[in-house]
Amino acid sequence: MPKQIITLKKQNHRDQLTRFQDENLILSDFYKEVWVVCPGCEKKAIAKVNFETKTARLFCLRCAYNKESATAFDKNASIETAAHAYFQAELWLQAPFKNEVFWAYNDKHLEYLEKYISATLREHKDRTHFTLIEKLPKFYHEAKNREGLLKVIAKLKSKISNPSNRI
Ligand SMILES: [Zn+2]
Repeated sequence: MPKQIITLKKQNHRDQLTRFQDENLILSDFYKEVWVVCPGCEKKAIAKVNFETKTARLFCLRCAYNKESATAFDKNASIETAAHAYFQAELWLQAPFKNEVFWAYNDKHLEYLEKYISATLREHKDRTHFTLIEKLPKFYHEAKNREGLLKVIAKLKSKISNPSNRI
């Protein structure tokens, strides 16, 4: 078999494993449902925001903590931001990394970041706005941090799969 073909095959295989395709997602694609530390029992609770009804809710299935808030700060204006911000709740998926904090709003957001960080090839589609990937702080993009960040992600994922956290 000519050498050329072998090299090409290897290349394809590697691409399949590591190619990251930026889905052009932005933070607001993830922040309507945010996993937070429950103000009542300190376990996982969920904050949700609905921009149509202009309401946000923080609820916990464990201790029945349940609070609703309006997204409007006066009659004519409301703020559209991440669901936990209306309650100043702490994010449940976060961990220190060097002098920074690695965080995710929920499991889907964490998976998206994991895909990005573990990829060695990164693709960019044409777009007109900045995606969340491009807005990430520098430490996310540095190859030397890849391994450390993946460890943090693995830790957070085991937090998710821990049966006592599953609700
Ligand atoms: Zn609770």
